[in-house]
Parts: sequence; C-alpha cells; structure tokens
Amino acid sequence: MSLLAAAASGEAALAARWGSGLAGALRLEDGRTLRVIFPGVPGGASGPDFRDAILDAGGDVLRGHVELHLRASGWRAHGHAGDPAYAGVVLHVVAENDTGALSTLHASGRAIPVLVLREPGAHAFPPPFTPPCALAAARGQDPAPALHRLGERRLRSKAARVAPLVAASGPGQAVYTLALETLAGSANRAAFASLARSLPLAALLERAAGTSAPRPLAITAELKGAAARLSLRRAGLRPMAQPARRLEAAGTLVAALWPGVIAGFPPALIPAALLPALRQPGIGRAAAIELAVNAVLPVALASGAWSEEDIAAAFAALPGPGTYGKLRRLEGWLGAGAAPKPFATARALQGGLLLHADYCTRGRCGQCPLSPAR
Ligand code: SF4
Repeated sequence: MSLLAAAASGEAALAARWGSGLAGALRLEDGRTLRVIFPGVPGGASGPDFRDAILDAGGDVLRGHVELHLRASGWRAHGHAGDPAYAGVVLHVVAENDTGALSTLHASGRAIPVLVLREPGAHAFPPPFTPPCALAAARGQDPAPALHRLGERRLRSKAARVAPLVAASGPGQAVYTLALETLAGSANRAAFASLARSLPLAALLERAAGTSAPRPLAITAELKGAAARLSLRRAGLRPMAQPARRLEAAGTLVAALWPGVIAGFPPALIPAALLPALRQPGIGRAAAIELAVNAVLPVALASGAWSEEDIAAAFAALPGPGTYGKLRRLEGWLGAGAAPKPFATARALQGGLLLHADYCTRGRCGQCPLSPAR
C-alpha cells in the first residue's frame, strides 16, 4: 500500500470510529473531559469532516463541526488554519498529537480543543497494569532527580519557543505576551496573545502615561478597550476566570512591573524575590507561580536577562502550584505516601508534565526515565 493510500485508510478508520459515536468520557488534551452527545453528520468532499456535532467539554456544550487528521500538524499542513470554511470547527480529532499543543488555532482567534483518539487499548493512560515507576517508588527509588531534569528540559523548550519573539520584539514584550497568555487560561489564550500583538507593551505604557487616572486603572482600561474587539469565551468560566477579571489582573501586573514607559525586562523581577513581585491584586499564589514558570523564567533564559545559575536557583525554589488533574494518577504511583509529594515543587511538576506527555500517554512504560532499568 502506498503512503498516500495508507494515510487515506487511516483517516477513514479514524472517521469510522468517530462517526460510530463514542460512549463514555474521553479526555481532551487540555485536561477537560469530553462526552460526545452527537458526533455530527459526515461532511461533503470539501470542508470539515463532520458537521453540526454536539459535544460536552468539561460542562460546556459545544455545537459545530469536527475535523479529523492522523496527526495534529495536518491542520496547518492542509491550510485549515486560515480557511474561513473551518472557522466553525469546535473539535480537532487526531490519532497522534505530534505538535504537543493543547489546542488547535484558527486565524479567527479561536482555540479548538484537541482529542487524541487512539486505537482501542493502544497507548492508554493509565496503563492496564501497575507501571514500573510505581514498583520502583514502592522499593524506595526517589523520582525527584529525574523529575527535576525533565522540568529543566521543559523550561528550556519554553525558552526556545519564545526566543524568536524575544529577538524580534525584546524581552519586555515577550514577558508581557506570555503573561497575558498565562493569565488568560486555556479558554482565551489565543485571544489574549492576539491582544498582546494588537496592543504592544510600549504602546500600552505610552497611552497610560498620557492619562491622569491611577496607573493600574488606566492600563486596565486600555487593555479592556483593545480586548473589546476580540472574540472572548465567557460561558462556563468561573467568575475569577472571566476575561474581564483576568484583564484587571493583567492591568495591575503591568503597572507594577513596568513603572515608567520603558518596555524592557522588568527591573522589579529579581531571582531572589520572584513570587512577591508577581503577587498582585487578582493574582493568587498558584497564578503567580504559573507566571514565573511560563513567562518570566523562559524569557529570562532566552534573553540572558538573568544568569543560568540565577534561573536554576529561582526555578528550584519555586513551590508547586498544585497538582493538575491529569497528573493525579502519576502522583499516586510516585508518591506512595511519601512526603513531600512528588510534585511539591514547580520544577518537579513541570517534569511530570513532560513525562506524562512524552512517555505515559504514549505507552512508553519501561522506556521512561522513571522505569528502573534506566
Ligand atoms: S511511562 Fe514511566 S512514569 Fe509514566 S506510567 Fe509508565 S512507568 Fe510510570
């Protein structure tokens, strides 16, 4: 069978599985559960693969189209990202998430959840047996060194991803962009990233300097004004996760980190006191840790604003923000009653996320860094 024919038959099998209706709870890449209420009707020769599906994603009812690919990268490769015919896609179903992204982006600014639909029984997580990491932990093997190594590798990946933005727009704009994306949460990440592009930090600081209003309020008003032109998700979000609350938190953060009109790497951010600088009104402990891990440290590393030693020390000192739902099973296996918990630090938690994405959910028990043979 040619590669083309193999791909076509693989996509047909994927479509057949999806179209048959899938019972029970599935797990989206962003961590939410997914229930298929109606899989949609098969599309025609052009446009999305299934039309008018009805889905329940973590309590949100989604109505729209479903697109299927063998690999998540097929979305861009097939030109769907900028195609208006795909603006109504509410779910991207793939056999393999080769991009590692938690959602698929459309040029309209919408972040489309991704579902990895594997062969029945293949690469399942949790595995259908007690995994080697659990047996090793029960024998006293400490997972911390491997988790720390993986956490540092994940931080370097984040720095590599932001490096082009640092080079093109400077470290201040990069911190601002990643901070907005982090505060947005998965529901509005793409929209807040677009806000950072449409209202760059330098312009925001200039505009705020020209008003007599208190600075946090002036900056928040500018952010909200620019965000009014965006399509933001509000349904199903907790009050504190609403975009208006997140923009207010962003306003106070920007005012605190950039006290003047100079849009460089914030001078208030120093390795020895990272979290206090990020704990602003509307930004709790967990959010401040997320900001440190997702915005400050990657940019500090990519830009050279801090030394590697300072970054390593600041990363090692960060507490964990709390274990994510998708890591609970792994935490139970690795913890086995241990104190402190395996994901008690941000560095270990980041390592756990990399482990989960690159090994646990790919059926690589026995090959991962926590399998005893290694
Ligand atoms: S891949 Fe490794 S860490 Fe993940 S469940 Fe299997 S043995 Fe455990």
